[in-house]
Amino acid sequence: MTSFSHLSHLECARCATTVDAGVAHGLCDCGAPLLSRYDLDAVRATVSPTDLADRAASLWRYHELLPVSAPESVVSLGEGLTPLLALPRLGTHLGLPRLLMKDEGGLPTGTFKARGAATGVSRAKELGIDAIAMPTNGNAGAAWAAYCARAGLRCHIAMPAQAPEITKRECTGFGADLRIVDGLIGDAGAAVAAMVSAGGWFDAGTLKEPYRLEGKKTMGYEIAEQLGWRVPDVIIYPTGGGVGIIGIHKALLELQALGWIGDKLPRLVAVQAAGCAPIVRAFEAGARSSEPWADAHTVAFGITVPHALGDFLVLQAIYHTGGCAIAVSDDELLAASADAARLEGTFICPEGGATVAAARLLREQGWLAESDEVVLLNTGSGLKYPETLAGQDVRDAVRSRTSA
Ligand SMILES: *Cc1c(COP(=O)(O)O)cnc(C)c1O
Ligand SMILES: [Zn+2]
Repeated sequence: MTSFSHLSHLECARCATTVDAGVAHGLCDCGAPLLSRYDLDAVRATVSPTDLADRAASLWRYHELLPVSAPESVVSLGEGLTPLLALPRLGTHLGLPRLLMKDEGGLPTGTFKARGAATGVSRAKELGIDAIAMPTNGNAGAAWAAYCARAGLRCHIAMPAQAPEITKRECTGFGADLRIVDGLIGDAGAAVAAMVSAGGWFDAGTLKEPYRLEGKKTMGYEIAEQLGWRVPDVIIYPTGGGVGIIGIHKALLELQALGWIGDKLPRLVAVQAAGCAPIVRAFEAGARSSEPWADAHTVAFGITVPHALGDFLVLQAIYHTGGCAIAVSDDELLAASADAARLEGTFICPEGGATVAAARLLREQGWLAESDEVVLLNTGSGLKYPETLAGQDVRDAVRSRTSA
């Protein structure tokens, strides 16, 4: 009999302690995240890339490499297998004719956070958890609230007051218990810690449990599969807590171990906003971990993370692949998202705009060559940011019409 999942155990990302995956876990005793490990020999023996081609167009097509042990446990809203779009006009504009964008904007709740919520909530339910709590900059809360509603789990969310308005409405609409916190995501995290110890709820914060990462890593599988089981030269990712870039790196290492891709890895690039760039500062100092960023602020709210629990894993992914970390200003990322809309018809989120701005800067600096095949990660739909995007253009248009 073949298994739905070949999850074998959990392993600490820092001290390599292993624990049983059959019960719910938070962090390792040493304080670092636990990573899911699979019996890759069993995966290789039972499934091949060709078998995957006929499967449903969702991230569950990779179920052997996901943590949910039974198909009945899957909580799904139809997530995954997002388009990998060629961007010929924007690419020409930037001097990168082989530019591509993995567009996550069409996922349930409008961002890639749906991937982590799908696997995280499915596995939480499977392990018997009935109430979760988490801090969020907005999009993760919206996604987890949606999947919790779908699964019948209770969901407690703490969010900074400045988070995008729509994400608050999504949370309450999905029936979550929403607490608005004065401050940033770290302050929301402190609120959740208090809620968790008072309420006995499960802390599903970024990298605090192992399974959100597993959903997000499927971006890496999909990029490789959509390119015909090969990798691009560079992947550029808007980095906050870092789960996406850590996940893509993990996915690529798993595919290498399976022998499904060759020796080459893409250079992984972490983009941050100039107003909150702890990973960039650490990278520029050649450091293995980051220091907390003071006075964090950017319109790209999803990447306002002053101190990420997984900072050392983001830096590992960058160093191991010969990548880099780069900061872009709010003006640059907003102008870049406007370019993507005008030249390609893609209405991307500000965080996605940061990857376009980074591609431009890295090309100007010569870090990217014209021949490089570059994949940008647009992590969400611009439709979630009506207050932020295209506002000036709309105001100008209204003004020119009323004064005509
Ligand atoms: C959460 C978020 C990010 C950053 O995600 P990480 O993988 O945790 O670094 C980027 N873009 C958007 C739109 C987000 O919501
Ligand atoms: Zn440990």
